[in-house]
Amino acid sequence: MATTSLTTCPYCGVGCGVQVTDEDGAISVKGDKLHPANFGRLCSKGSALADTIGLEDRLLHPQINGKQASWDTALNAVSNGLKKIIEEYGPDAVAFYVSGQLLTEDYYVANKLMKGFIGSANIDTNSRLCMSSAVAGYKRAFGSDSVPCSYEDLEQAELIVIEGSNTAWCHPIVYQRIVKAKQQRPELKIVVIDPRKTATCDIADLHLPIKPGSDATLFNGLLSYINKQQRINWDFVNPHTEGVVEALLAAEKSAAGISQVAQICELSEQDVRLFYQFFADTKKVVTLYSQGVNQSSSGTDKSNSIINCHLATGRIGKPAMGPFSITGQPNAMGGREVGALSNQLAAHMELNNPAHHDLVSRFWQTDNLASVAGLQAVDMFEQIANGKIKAIWVIATNPVVTLPNADVVRRAIEDCELVIVSECELNTGTAARANILLPALAWGEKCGTVTNSERRISHQRNFLPHPGEAEEDWWILSQVAKRMGFGEAFNYQSSADIFREHAALSGFENKGKRDFDISGLAEITDKQYDELSPIQWPVTARDSEGTERMFEDGRFFTATGKAQFIAITPRPPANATDEEYPLILNTGRVRDQWHTMTRTARSARLNAHISEPIIQIHPADAKAYNLKNSGIARLDSLWGNMLARIAVTEEQRPGSVFVPMHWNDFLASKGRVNALVNPVVDPISGQPESKHTPIKVAPYRPAWYGFMFSRTALAPSNAEYWVKIKGDQFFRYELAGETAISDPFSWAKKQLGNDGEWLEFSDQNEKRFRAGKIIDNRLESIIFIAPEFDLPARSWLSQVFSEQTVTDEMRMSLLAGKPGAGLPDTGPMVCACFGVGENTIMEAIASGSAKTAEDIGTLLKAGTNCGSCIPELKNIISNKQPH
Ligand code: SF4
Repeated sequence: MATTSLTTCPYCGVGCGVQVTDEDGAISVKGDKLHPANFGRLCSKGSALADTIGLEDRLLHPQINGKQASWDTALNAVSNGLKKIIEEYGPDAVAFYVSGQLLTEDYYVANKLMKGFIGSANIDTNSRLCMSSAVAGYKRAFGSDSVPCSYEDLEQAELIVIEGSNTAWCHPIVYQRIVKAKQQRPELKIVVIDPRKTATCDIADLHLPIKPGSDATLFNGLLSYINKQQRINWDFVNPHTEGVVEALLAAEKSAAGISQVAQICELSEQDVRLFYQFFADTKKVVTLYSQGVNQSSSGTDKSNSIINCHLATGRIGKPAMGPFSITGQPNAMGGREVGALSNQLAAHMELNNPAHHDLVSRFWQTDNLASVAGLQAVDMFEQIANGKIKAIWVIATNPVVTLPNADVVRRAIEDCELVIVSECELNTGTAARANILLPALAWGEKCGTVTNSERRISHQRNFLPHPGEAEEDWWILSQVAKRMGFGEAFNYQSSADIFREHAALSGFENKGKRDFDISGLAEITDKQYDELSPIQWPVTARDSEGTERMFEDGRFFTATGKAQFIAITPRPPANATDEEYPLILNTGRVRDQWHTMTRTARSARLNAHISEPIIQIHPADAKAYNLKNSGIARLDSLWGNMLARIAVTEEQRPGSVFVPMHWNDFLASKGRVNALVNPVVDPISGQPESKHTPIKVAPYRPAWYGFMFSRTALAPSNAEYWVKIKGDQFFRYELAGETAISDPFSWAKKQLGNDGEWLEFSDQNEKRFRAGKIIDNRLESIIFIAPEFDLPARSWLSQVFSEQTVTDEMRMSLLAGKPGAGLPDTGPMVCACFGVGENTIMEAIASGSAKTAEDIGTLLKAGTNCGSCIPELKNIISNKQPH
């Protein structure tokens, strides 16, 4: 019998609703048609959620020093370990590092335990790495961390400025909503500001390939232009804002005219003028911004330079207008709400505000509430490295991959006296270095709430049983709190109990003084909590249906009730390129992977799009540094190094390279880009500069290149470069080694096992070797080695693993690595949702039956689910981007 559940996607901050169907244990997912974030659509990652819920490589039992332990023993070890260190060194010797993957209820309990009862503010969240500059920018301008807009504002806008965001890949359903609005109203203008020509530019009327780091100059120039064109909305500015004169003076000083702006930002005057005209002449403007703005040593200033322009034109608090920061993680907003950033108290209150301190102390009934800000993420791990912090509890995140200067972070964790890790997954770089491992429930097993980028609280519901001994994060934290002697305050029976307390605190002595208020939900019953429909905060007795838009009354949460202009003096990135490190490293996400790939790498279809750590580089730079497309490059910065497959593309800005942030130690030997990233942070927000590290690149010249496929997972030997890729019924390994293999056949048998029927080809002079192993007439494994990287494409061989029988024709083609005449090869994956390859698309185009992306959708379904591959379909049609 089939049962259905409604829940929320655990990946990006769009917060899409998901409908899960369980048909006798077979789980399938589709978009929730009624969820206001996505109205039934899911992107490739959301559509593949069912592929990721298996128990393989799950952490299912508590462990102490690698040995299974009972919950009681493990929880006692955690509480005794923390208590001992606190007694000896004080509360600031311990720290929690938590995650935007946590549910709000988990987050709330973690923050309450650390700040309220342990008495230190040393709790920070990995959201520090993605949106803390946006938080700081909002707070400086509005006196509160309030995202003013809703997704509907994007659909109603006349101009959308997308800055520092590859929305098409990183927030795909928001992008699809914009695409649809543009289709319905072609007059809707889209400006994309990004050093790269990303998939998002597919719908842009204007793309500004800005010099990395010069965003504040561009927006200061815009503010100055608005003033000169007499477009300042004084009817809004005079009664509702303060500081405009100082902001205008600073803007004028740094960006006096269009030609100066164009010169600093390395844009054409014509493009800058056009952008300024669009902005000044259009009433309904939304500026959508993300990590490209935030991940900077001046990210807070950049976000305020954007907000200044919206305040100057009065474009805030009205439909289709506003500065709209979108969050990376599913519950970054929930973390902000409960105060999981080390400089905040709960419910958007301030650590350094005595009234807030008193209020939270009374509400939590504690006399030990922290009163000074704790350490921010980068500083926290520095203090672990220098021994000042002696115990770290990492919950639902993987800092040895994601923090800048990641090799130093890894060593810091290895040397830390007590490392506690709460995790779903066994194989994370951080879990591998834990003294105590605590098994947590994963998506589909746990239950609670999350808040998306438009302040919409949604329920994430469980539809799977608890596996092994895994538990809810709030339960684990509460059990430790009880053992530390704080039992009364952590006597929760359910996540609904915690949610009600969180809601009550938000409304406690609030009376409209604080933006975050969900007191309208403080008394909901367990049943109402289970059935909670998506709703945007604030939710109060007066606004019981939630609030679509903030600041409609022109009142802000500053002391004067007026929004603040901030005078911005643009600063360049902390470290400039030089002769030794001449290129700028920009890090970010790819279309089909999520964070450190601990979940998405379980899905064969998600691995098919971009399978290896890549470095995207402009052809001129590739030529200058002797890099060949599909070869391997070594990247070095002052902080670390890595190896990555070379992807030469004109879409990259000369002088700047892009490398994805996803690969971890279990999936690639040298693929952690954050090992290279400069740990410098924004002085206000503490957010690292992940978009601008000077690096050098050089060709990596191993003795041999190769790849192998196997039906079972392997541990490749003699290969300094390896990447593990899960496919459909196989694992693929991309390989390169620095020492020549003298006897390749013996080596192949050592890798793949001695059994089965072997096919072999060897050319000793050319140093080429190919061998395949067949068992029961099915391809079991295959290996290719050559002195150069130009090996056969992997797409056809991967399809052979799905065949029940290797036919004679296939057998003859196996060691050629490509199909003989008449054998199909779908080619490299383009559409992950429907598994449509490039060759299939090319055939449809060649036959004349597909002339547009829409035709391809009609014929092959490609691009008709999430739509993220449509820019690639268009590229294939125009033959601009052959693989
Ligand atoms: Fe999940 Fe994709 Fe929606 Fe983001 S856009 S919430 S990843 S389905």
